[in-house]
Amino acid sequence: TTRAIWFRRDLRLNDQTAINKALEHAGDEDEILLFFHIHPDLNEEFTARHDYFFQTLKAFVDDAEEKGLVVHFIEGKISAAFAQLVEKHQVEAVYYNRDESGFGLKRDHEVKEYLNDSDVQVFSYIDHHMHGAKEVTKKTGGYYKVFTPYYKQWKQLQKPAVQKVDHERLSQLAVDKNDEFEDGYKAYKNLISKTTREFDKVGENNALDHFYDFLDEAIYEYEKERDFPAVDGTSRMSRFLRTGAISIRTVYHLIHDQVDYRKNTEGVETYISELAWRDFYNMIYHFYPNAGDEEMVEKYRGLPWNYDEDLFNQWKEGRTGFPIIDAAMRQMNETGWMHNRLRMAVASFLTKDLLMDWRAGERYFAEQLIDYDPASNIGGWQWAASTGTDPVPYFRVFNPTRQSERFDPHGRFIKEWVPELIDVDKKYIHEPAKMSEKDQEQANCVIGEDYPEPMVDHKTMRVRAIEMFKNEKEAK
Ligand code: FAD
Repeated sequence: TTRAIWFRRDLRLNDQTAINKALEHAGDEDEILLFFHIHPDLNEEFTARHDYFFQTLKAFVDDAEEKGLVVHFIEGKISAAFAQLVEKHQVEAVYYNRDESGFGLKRDHEVKEYLNDSDVQVFSYIDHHMHGAKEVTKKTGGYYKVFTPYYKQWKQLQKPAVQKVDHERLSQLAVDKNDEFEDGYKAYKNLISKTTREFDKVGENNALDHFYDFLDEAIYEYEKERDFPAVDGTSRMSRFLRTGAISIRTVYHLIHDQVDYRKNTEGVETYISELAWRDFYNMIYHFYPNAGDEEMVEKYRGLPWNYDEDLFNQWKEGRTGFPIIDAAMRQMNETGWMHNRLRMAVASFLTKDLLMDWRAGERYFAEQLIDYDPASNIGGWQWAASTGTDPVPYFRVFNPTRQSERFDPHGRFIKEWVPELIDVDKKYIHEPAKMSEKDQEQANCVIGEDYPEPMVDHKTMRVRAIEMFKNEKEAK
C-alpha cells in the first residue's frame, strides 16, 4: 500500500499527528510518500507573508532531505494535481492535519470529495490547535462567544501529549519518486525563486531554539513587559505557529517542563491564556464562517464605514502624524510582524479615528503579516472595530496619544521606526505637532514637511465614532 502524507501549514518533522498516524497504520511492506500541493492561487501575488511561508517550506524540504526524506510537489487545480497521486502512483490513503475554517476548510472538503470518489481513504486530524473548534463547548451545549468562560473550560480539559516521531522508520518507508514529479518540483523552485525578502529565523530548528531562549528568561517578565513595544517582551512565536514549524503541544508542554516554578510565574499563566486566544478565535471563525466579510454582531452590519484611498494610504505607509501609529505600521511593512499592543492601536485608529472599513485593514494585514492567520486576524480586527463577539466596547475608544505615552513613555520605539523624529525632545515625542518653530528647528524636523501634521483630530473623531455606533443601534 502507498500512503501519502500531505504537508500544509505543519512544516515540521516532530510532534506531527499526520506523520504519526501514517506510521501507525503502515505495515513494513508499505510505502510512504510525502508531498506538498502548490495551489494555483499561490502563484498570483507574492507578499511578505508568502516570502516567509515559502522560505519556511524550503527549510522544511532541506531538513527532510538531511534525514533522507524527499518531499514531492504536485501543482495546479485539485482534481488534476491529486489525480497524479491516485492514478499514476496508486496512493490508497492520504493523511493530513485538517483546517477548521476559511480557505483551508473549503480546500479540504474539495480534496476529500475527490479522494473519496476515487476510493482513496482519507485520514485527517486536529493538530494546528490545542483544542479544536468543537472541543470546548458549554455544558448546556453550544459554543462560547466570550473568552473568559471559554478559557475556564479550556484550562480544565486534558491536553494532548507531545508525540514522538520515529524518524528512522519514516525514512525506511519513505519513497523517492522525485523524477516522476518533475513539474511539481519546477513549480516549487519557481516559487522559491520569487521570494525576495530574507528572514533571520525560519523553520523547525530555529523555532525550537527561539522558544528555549524565551523560556530561559523573558517568560518570567512576560506579564510586566508584554505591552511595551520597545522591549523584546513577547515570544514572537506566532510566525512559527503559523507555519507549523513548531507544534502547539510542544510549546505548551515545554513551558511546563522548563519553567522554574520557584520564580515569578505570573507571566506563565498569562502566556498560556494567549495561546488559548488562538484556539478561541479558531473556534469563533469556525462557527462564523462569514466573519471575514461581515460583522459578527448583526445589528452592526449596516454601519456606514467609509473608504478613502488617500487616507488609507497614509495609514498604510505610516504617515498619519501620530508617531506611535506610524512607527507600528512601518515596523510591519519592514519586518512582517507588529507588536500586539500596536495591532490593537492601529486597528482602532483606522476604524474609530478614520471611520474606515475594518475589512480593508484586515486585508492589508493579510498581505503584510508573516504570522497572518485569518481566524486571529479577523478576530483581532472585529475586536478593535467593536463588531466582534467579545469586542472592545464602542464607547471605549483608544486614544493614540495616551497609548503612546503609556506604552512607549520614552519614545524609544517611535525613534527606532520614525527616524524623522530622532532628535525630537521626549516632551514632544508623542505629539510633535505641538513643537514651536524653534523646537522644530532644534529637532531638525519641520512639521508639515519632514513629518506630517496629525491627519485627524482625535477628540472630534472619537465623538463621531461613538455617534455612528449609537445611531446604528437606535435604528435597529
Ligand atoms: P505573544 O504575546 O508571545 O503570544 C504568544 C502566542 O499566543 C502568539 O504567538 C499567538 O499564537 C498567541 N496569541 C497572542 N495573542 C493573541 C491574540 N490576541 N489572538 C490570537 N492569538 C494570540 N495573531 C496571529 O497569529 N496572526 C494574525 O494574523 C493576527 N492578527 C491580529 C490582528 C489584530 C488587529 C490584532 C489586535 C491581533 C492580531 N493577532 C494575530 C494576535 C497577536 O497580536 C499576535 O498573535 C501576537 O502579536 C504575536 O506576537 P507574539 O508571538 O510575540 O505573541
